[in-house]
Amino acid sequence: MSTYREEQLKSQEMVVRHLREASATERDQLLRMCRDYLRFREDVRHHQRRHLSAICTHACFRSQLSACCNKDGIITFFADLVINALCAPPQDLDRLLASLGQSRGDLKCVYLGTQGCCWHIKPLICEMFLCDRALEEMRAADPRAVETWRRLETEAKRFRWPDRPVLFDMLESRFLAAGLCSPLMYLHNSPGLVRIKRKAGLA
Ligand code: SF4
Ligand code: SF4
Repeated sequence: MSTYREEQLKSQEMVVRHLREASATERDQLLRMCRDYLRFREDVRHHQRRHLSAICTHACFRSQLSACCNKDGIITFFADLVINALCAPPQDLDRLLASLGQSRGDLKCVYLGTQGCCWHIKPLICEMFLCDRALEEMRAADPRAVETWRRLETEAKRFRWPDRPVLFDMLESRFLAAGLCSPLMYLHNSPGLVRIKRKAGLA
């Protein structure tokens, strides 16, 4: 098993276990913290359904040549794991863990299972990825859709870019305070992101 896959698996197991043992109050509090983010993800999903699904289906899904999921090492933030584990049905989480535990020997994303992506709520980086071709086709069909997409990209930053208090940092802090630690806690581990927090007086 690659170091990357192992790191992902251990962190996913830790988050799922912690949330399964957490009280209803704790889970409610966490879900409340994520409310704006989940609303934002709905907006993104709506935009994608309206402006991108036809483009992506034609360009990639039919031919199964999607550039989106052909890398084995995508960036997942610790908060991505927490939000997914809070929202996914238990059987989906079991499927994700089982799929992650089996090395496949190809170079596709470790989360690509037999029925597609194993996440219930995909990592933010995946959700906001748009290849040049899709962007250009979206622009050709409706230039205003690109403007909306740019606005959504800016909004996405508000949840993870720590030049102000952000949800992704708060979720990491909360799990750290509960004694859990993961290399995916980039808002606490990445020197670049910690520097941004320091500059903003947040670390
Ligand atoms: S964003 Fe681009 S690479 Fe990804 S599925 Fe759509 S067309 Fe394919
Ligand atoms: S996590 Fe899901 S959407 Fe993201 S690259 Fe992997 S399979 Fe694709």
